[in-house]
Amino acid sequence: MKKKGIWIISAFVYLTFFSTLDFSFNQEKDPYVRLRKRMVERQLAARDITDPDVLDAMSKVPRHMFVRPSDRRLAYNDYPLPIEEGQTISQPYIVALMTQHLKVKKGDRVLEVGTGSGYQAAVLSQLVDQVFSVEIKENLAKRSSQILKDLNYNNVNIKVGDGYLGWKDHAPFDAIIVTCAANHIPPLLIEQLKEGGRMVIPLERTSNYQTLTLVKKKDGKPVVERITDVRFVPMVGEIKKKKK
Ligand code: SAH
Repeated sequence: MKKKGIWIISAFVYLTFFSTLDFSFNQEKDPYVRLRKRMVERQLAARDITDPDVLDAMSKVPRHMFVRPSDRRLAYNDYPLPIEEGQTISQPYIVALMTQHLKVKKGDRVLEVGTGSGYQAAVLSQLVDQVFSVEIKENLAKRSSQILKDLNYNNVNIKVGDGYLGWKDHAPFDAIIVTCAANHIPPLLIEQLKEGGRMVIPLERTSNYQTLTLVKKKDGKPVVERITDVRFVPMVGEIKKKKK
């Protein structure tokens, strides 16, 4: 009788152990989970992305859902990828670097100029209360809104419009991220940034590359700091009519 009891307990322990093991194996079998973990370790943490919240957000957002379906297996590689309308989804490292420089926190309200695929907005949505993102191309705004909705990123608000003008109804913002290249800092974005707030923006140096720039608003004025050289698609719309 005693022996039988031991057998039952052992069988129970054995089954419980192997069923959990099987579960974790199954999770590991999801190729995207493994690829995403590797991306975070090798492309972000191994470089200078140290903010644990940024690393955590990057390890959660399914980047492969934001690229073109035919590019899914390339989604976690160390380079940008083309999306519709001749635009690009930025390299994972640049998304993380820009996010880290924003120093955002829960409770913040952030403006993004250039929704594109919606990936950067999804990463930000993990870190703040509300993301407002403006996209000039209607097709991209529609596509990214649908993806974000399907994935339940409910704190991202997208509108079709010219981000050069910001999004006045929801200003002021704690932080602003511009993901297309500008030849000057749009004055309305400074106006819509809170005092002490931070903006990250690629500013054109030549037609080929830009300086990723951190802009802090101090006493109502922009104070700029160089981060690194980058390549983004150009900002179009109103900015093209303005002088530098
Ligand atoms: N943040 C995006 C990458 C954006 S690529 C992502 O995570 O995928 C740059 C985007 O800026 C493009 O979608 C382009 O259409 C958009 N864009 C260019 N000029 C703009 C403007 N004036 N206002 C809003 N969006 C603009």
